[in-house]
Amino acid sequence: METNPPPTQDTAPLVLPQQTFTQTITTFLQEPLTCRALTTLQVNLGLRCNQSCRHCHHQASPDRHEHMTTDTMHAILRFLPTTPVKTVDVTGGSPELHPHLKDFITALADHGYPVMVRTNLTALALPDSSGLAEFLKDHGVTIVASLPCYLQDNVDQQRGPGVYHQSITTLSYLNSLGYGVDPGLPLNLVHNPGGPYLPESQADLEQIYRKELHERHGIQFTSLLTITNMPIGSFLNDLQNTNTQEAYQTLCRSSFNPDTIPGLMCQHQICVRWDGRLYDCDFNLAADLPIRSKKTTIHDATLHDLIPRPVATAEHCFACTAGNGSSCQGALVTP
Ligand code: SF4
Ligand code: SF4
Repeated sequence: METNPPPTQDTAPLVLPQQTFTQTITTFLQEPLTCRALTTLQVNLGLRCNQSCRHCHHQASPDRHEHMTTDTMHAILRFLPTTPVKTVDVTGGSPELHPHLKDFITALADHGYPVMVRTNLTALALPDSSGLAEFLKDHGVTIVASLPCYLQDNVDQQRGPGVYHQSITTLSYLNSLGYGVDPGLPLNLVHNPGGPYLPESQADLEQIYRKELHERHGIQFTSLLTITNMPIGSFLNDLQNTNTQEAYQTLCRSSFNPDTIPGLMCQHQICVRWDGRLYDCDFNLAADLPIRSKKTTIHDATLHDLIPRPVATAEHCFACTAGNGSSCQGALVTP
């Protein structure tokens, strides 16, 4: 009788220690990582923020002054109709601190683009932001709100004293407007780990957030997105200060999951910096790793210059492919 050979256990690591991310991804794809579609345009309005969080990959803070000019906003509005972009994702810093945020959103809405705005929740509560939440509601804007944990200590430790309570107050107000309650007003929360480890399962954590935030504060939300901390910017400084940089980078490398590759956001988006320079994603923007194209700004590039294009990759990209994967839209695979 023919017998099957005993199952072999393949314990070889997927990523060799000396392999770069570019080599690793090329091995799996049999070609370089490439952006072949453009469904999302992410717009970074600038680095001024009312907070200065420990994990911020941009090192945003109240002392930063980079911000997008109206000239660059106009260039974006001219570029969009020449593309198949479906969604405009507005981020920062704190988008709320940009003096022309409302004008920009109005113009995008007039052109028929679905818009999402990323907020840290406390900036939405500043006196200068009075009426902004109602404005976002009136323009059907999706709100993506960072809340790294459902527990006060963890949030305040990462983001500063008092941030948790202010965030909860803002979430309650958004709920009262219908955000996170009315299906037409999505309110998505963003979790990132409090230290040098990978996020838990997004689905499991969403259940816990839903239960805890509802029981403690009566808060409702639409979805939870988990994002892996990027070893760049303030989080890199934090890793260096705690002598955990090497261990974290080893964790990201050794957790490489090839199933995350099809979902990598750099394959279907582009990110515009405040000065109009173009990047494959907000993380490459933070690392100042520009796109690989002859035309590198929103002022001169056409769709033809950008699609297809090889994605610029570096060591930090291992954070996107670790475990369940990570992107600005959350995890990439379900465990
Ligand atoms: S993580 Fe967000 S809220 Fe915190 S400093 Fe950076 S941009 Fe501001
Ligand atoms: S960091 Fe950016 S370029 Fe690198 S894999 Fe992630 S999304 Fe792609």
